[in-house]
Amino acid sequence: MAETIFSKIIDRQIPADILFEDDRCLAFRDINPQAPTHFLVIPKKRIVSLAVAEAEDGALLGHLLGVAARVAAEQGLGSGYRVVTNIGPDGGQSVDHLHLHVLGGRSLAWPPG
Ligand code: AMP
Repeated sequence: MAETIFSKIIDRQIPADILFEDDRCLAFRDINPQAPTHFLVIPKKRIVSLAVAEAEDGALLGHLLGVAARVAAEQGLGSGYRVVTNIGPDGGQSVDHLHLHVLGGRSLAWPPG
């Protein structure tokens, strides 16, 4: 998988507002927030999207969800939030490195556009 802006954030080649990091993942604020709180959770392993994740990635994917919930709680999103992963062109994916969006801090409409 090719290097992306997110692999450069993992490697500290470009800065980010990091909220959480461990050996498997990184959570950082989205540079173009769509809600008062908007951060991304990404695996350090290069996986293009959920569509190409493999069975062996199951524990890692679960870990990303757990980190999303933990950081959301730390960010005070007790009244709710949304976790989204965009996949491919029709899904609105612009960075080809799997990421969870976590959005909160306002009432979110449904369905999304
Ligand atoms: P997606 O469109 O689902 O692929 O989401 C990519 C997200 O990455 C967008 O919400 C961008 O605002 C965000 N993004 C792009 N570059 C950066 C960056 N350098 N730091 C933080 N977030 C970024």
